[in-house]
Amino acid sequence: MNSLPFVRGFFSLLFFLGCLAIGPQLQAFTFQTLPENLTGGEGFLLRLKGNPADNYQALFERKKYKPFPASKGVWEIFLPLSIKAAGERELILEKISPDAPTEKYSFLVNVTQKKIRTIFLGKASRKMRKEEPSISKQQKKVLAAINNREPRKYWNQPFSLPLQGEIGTEFGIKRNLGTYSSYHWGVDISAPEGTPVQAANRGKVILSEHNFNIYGNLLIIDHGQGVVSCYFHLSQIFKETGDMVDQNEIIAEVGNTGWSDGAHLHFSVYLQGKPVDPLWWVSFTPE
Ligand SMILES: [Zn+2]
Repeated sequence: MNSLPFVRGFFSLLFFLGCLAIGPQLQAFTFQTLPENLTGGEGFLLRLKGNPADNYQALFERKKYKPFPASKGVWEIFLPLSIKAAGERELILEKISPDAPTEKYSFLVNVTQKKIRTIFLGKASRKMRKEEPSISKQQKKVLAAINNREPRKYWNQPFSLPLQGEIGTEFGIKRNLGTYSSYHWGVDISAPEGTPVQAANRGKVILSEHNFNIYGNLLIIDHGQGVVSCYFHLSQIFKETGDMVDQNEIIAEVGNTGWSDGAHLHFSVYLQGKPVDPLWWVSFTPE
């Protein structure tokens, strides 16, 4: 690594994070990405170690991210990989020092393409989706909750599924609705109406609503540092916006409300506003 050409304030080096989980010693900071193998529709933890006086910025898939301070001289952020991510993707790290020019480091990460299945929805289901009035107002509320960036990290344990049940529609399936397609940004867990739904981890309820056209009765939990979990199509809801919840605390019951044709829980996880596969997320233990 030391033999690479150095250009004032700009250092460019290429490698595949897939085969190198621990970043090389750079000028004044090190970084690490976990897990080793990256797949579209999943994500990774970016951890930086450096001078406590500096700050960092990551640019990835055309988005800027500010890693959160984790401890003295350590910054962390969970970054999402878009569902279509495949092959080499550029990760740019910027070191912002109070008394020196910003330094830019460029890397390539190697991403395995996710296989995307397409299903064709029947007429009845398509009709239900079409007749949604005032979607945009509700959609905006949900999007605002998903895009929240609370710098505190509310959780310490790995995430868990909110209930046990058969996975119906998995994450990332493309649903063809005739004139357009939409991706399924969560997993559907089948369970009888009234089955308790548990919080996937500790966090703060950021949205608790009834009778949304698509989502039905819903809860959204902000876990902090850009990690958000969603629970849709509920029957009973036991938590209000602003409530703190513990991991595995019963927050609601499975229902069949909104755009749903049978009792199930739609469970989704967002990293920095982008959906990732919840089954991958609950199996992800970066330490
Ligand atoms: Zn669903």
